[in-house]
Amino acid sequence: MAKFVYDFTEGNRNLKDLLGGKGANLAEMTNLGLPVPPGFTITTEACRHYLAEGAVPDGLEAEVAGHLAALEERMGRKLGQADDPLLVSVRSGAKFSMPGMMDTVLNIGLNDESVQGLAKQAGGNERFAWDSYRRLIQMFGKTVLGVEGELFEEALDALKGSRQDTDLTAAELRGLVETYKGVVREQTGRDFPADPREQMRLAVQAVFESWNAPRAILYRRQERIPADLGTAVNIVAMVFGNVGPDSGTGVAFTRDPSSGHQGVYGDYLQNAQGEDVVAGIRNTIPLQELERIDKSSYGELMQIMETLENHYRDLCDIEFTIERGKLWMLQTRVGKRTAAAAFRIATQLVDQGLIGLDEAVTRVTGDQLAQLMFPRFDASAERRKITQGMNASPGAAVGKAVFSSERAVELAARGEDVILVRRETNPDDLSGMIAARGILTSRGGKTSHAAVVARGMGKTCVCGAEQLDVSAKELRFTAPEGVVVNEGDVISIDGSTGEVFLGEVAVMDPPVVEYFEGRQVDDELVKAVDRIMRRADEVRRLRVRANADAPEDAARARRFGAQGIGLCRTEHMFLGERRQLVEDLVLASDDKERQAALDALEPLQKQDFIGIFRAMDELPVTIRLIDPPLHEFLPDLTELSIKVATGDASDKDRTLLAAVKRLHEQNPMLGLRGVRLGLVIPGLFAMQVRAIAEAAREVPGARPEIMIPLVAAVQELEAVREEATSILRETGVDALIGTMIETPRAALTAGQIAEAAEFFSFGTNDLTQMTWGFSRDDVEAAFFSRYLELGVFGVSPFETLDRDGVGRLVKLAADEGRATRPNLHLGICGEHGGDPDSVHFCHEAGLDYVSCSPFRIPVARLEAGRAALTGNDSDTR
Ligand code: ADP
Ligand code: MG
Ligand code: MG
Repeated sequence: MAKFVYDFTEGNRNLKDLLGGKGANLAEMTNLGLPVPPGFTITTEACRHYLAEGAVPDGLEAEVAGHLAALEERMGRKLGQADDPLLVSVRSGAKFSMPGMMDTVLNIGLNDESVQGLAKQAGGNERFAWDSYRRLIQMFGKTVLGVEGELFEEALDALKGSRQDTDLTAAELRGLVETYKGVVREQTGRDFPADPREQMRLAVQAVFESWNAPRAILYRRQERIPADLGTAVNIVAMVFGNVGPDSGTGVAFTRDPSSGHQGVYGDYLQNAQGEDVVAGIRNTIPLQELERIDKSSYGELMQIMETLENHYRDLCDIEFTIERGKLWMLQTRVGKRTAAAAFRIATQLVDQGLIGLDEAVTRVTGDQLAQLMFPRFDASAERRKITQGMNASPGAAVGKAVFSSERAVELAARGEDVILVRRETNPDDLSGMIAARGILTSRGGKTSHAAVVARGMGKTCVCGAEQLDVSAKELRFTAPEGVVVNEGDVISIDGSTGEVFLGEVAVMDPPVVEYFEGRQVDDELVKAVDRIMRRADEVRRLRVRANADAPEDAARARRFGAQGIGLCRTEHMFLGERRQLVEDLVLASDDKERQAALDALEPLQKQDFIGIFRAMDELPVTIRLIDPPLHEFLPDLTELSIKVATGDASDKDRTLLAAVKRLHEQNPMLGLRGVRLGLVIPGLFAMQVRAIAEAAREVPGARPEIMIPLVAAVQELEAVREEATSILRETGVDALIGTMIETPRAALTAGQIAEAAEFFSFGTNDLTQMTWGFSRDDVEAAFFSRYLELGVFGVSPFETLDRDGVGRLVKLAADEGRATRPNLHLGICGEHGGDPDSVHFCHEAGLDYVSCSPFRIPVARLEAGRAALTGNDSDTR
């Protein structure tokens, strides 16, 4: 039979799935012999059952009753017993901590009789008993009965006047209990339930239900916590911090969560119950002062914190309560920390001998490393903060405030930096968001349109800066203290902290970037990063390459640790002055004209490749032959049509218009591009291959790899391959010939395609577009925020590779390709190559390398190391 309830003595910290983090760690502390009030945990499985069926599973009530009886036996008093009551708390606690998102009710078991018994227990302390009772009705009323919390708070405030809650007398608190009961009756139409077991039963169900409270749903989405885990419920014997000045409650960290330094970090509140610390009902005092108030509890607490650090081998945070000089532990967990602290702590723990270097690598994440690499504002520079919003997409951006997309595009075209300021953005703002250095909104949270699109573009964004009043009509916004920012005024926004500054704040490379650039930096954090990166490089199996088209990018990529170029696009090499040559190529009326255009392009291409081969020394360089739709190189259809219509056109313009019309496509992304273009325009691919070969001949050690884009059938590849091979033979250059796998058909026929390909590179941007049938440029702005809200996906499939769909195609193609050609070389060159979770996927799928933008290379190196160390347990959070 299923077991739904575990005593604290039965659980341990590895049972987080079943007992939630809080329950698992309460059990762990219990078994360590630490002073934890006794209690038991109802599993997440019971919660899932309740949420699915609308009723608790069979047998749960009996099991709970059994555990309660044992608890009563052990405590020598019964739940809510009139003359000597046992009281309990009913606490939520899911696998991943969701601070303050779900519910907890304290002091369960009090009613008009047992409140007297409680007073007696506390040596006749009536004040304490009534204070506990009013807290029960308040918490229970709010979380279980759904009464507006404010109604209780208002009644309390009215009674307190300018006094503190601790100044209220027993009689006053007793009166407050009556008021609260009245509120409950008025709001719910029934009386506050006096039966202790009924209280407990209802509280358990309310905790189950709090899993699906709107704020909990929103939080999970932001933190990428799966929606179907459910919460456990912990029933814990109450201990009281509100008995008098010799009692109190507090929170602490075993070391500083922002710097990682060891020391005493925490807050304490005398004569209070747990929720008061967070609620900010009175000012807390620094934990150090507890030493003066209660030296022996303080000493014991210090010792326990040391025990916990040594046991968990990590920074822990804790909740504790002191009841008349006796210390009780109420919670612990491995604590959250800043990105910098994560690296520092991991290496400090290595130095302390608590963990090995491999474990240190698994204790930090690529996202944290990325945070340390974002450009930031110079903290020593003068700056005037005008407001605070949400840190929606990291980075530091400076520019002139503009209030419409059109204006953003217009100023950006003149080479000015702009920040797009909107109340909220919508799909029409896309062009402005692309043109802007950063985006600032006064409404909307981390899944708002602005936040989602900005993150997808890697653009700095601060959203939900609610103190700002944005008027697009008057072209200005106002901030607190009468600050007015008009169009054109410069502002600076920090997407990593959510801060907004007036004027220009100096931006600088953080020390970690200096380090990756190869400069000497004497910095404690950099040392920690260096140690972890070295180890990650030693253990990783995946190689890391760069997507780089220009020699400068290639050079930076090398400094950042790239082991080759996984994607060198050639289309940029056809823009600017060379565009005319491409035009000539497309418009050529005979072979001779075409050949002339190709002959003019070839030496230019050759120089491009020489630059890249030189920058990469003897590392491999995968060059993709021309990929985008041809019309991207031709004049704009509308402009040209107008010119012809208004009669300002030359003969050449007319011919051009005819050609542009002929080549116009409804769906260019699915049209004449990639290998199709190579097969349709004779000599184009041959010219590129010759330029590659000639360049390779001039750079000793060059290792070109020729990559054919958008292949869907092996026949396409064979046609190109034949021509390319003969050119290579003629020039005596060695180069691999391979293909991108970026159409579903290529993935599905990979076994055949591998006959003609020496390598595959998964183009996961196109593969995602085609697998989902999404046009990325359209869908991200149009409806992705809605999709995220609906939970269609927890994160955009363009950010993190969709394992179930696209990933399945990748895996299938990798396996079938290798079945045909065992030494087939496999990599990925979509933007996913720099995304932590996707890197883990590539490791698991057995690819040889990932390729990403130069800036993401350190992240990919780290995650590849972590993937190798954690096997398939790919939690990249
Ligand atoms: P959260 O997850 O929001 O922190 P908790 O379940 O930890 O909620 O409880 C809220 C507060 O009540 C915490 O400060 C906690 O320490 C305190 N608390 C919970 N159970 C007890 C108990 N049995 N005795 C005393 N204080 C408790
Ligand atoms: Mg807590
Ligand atoms: Mg592509």
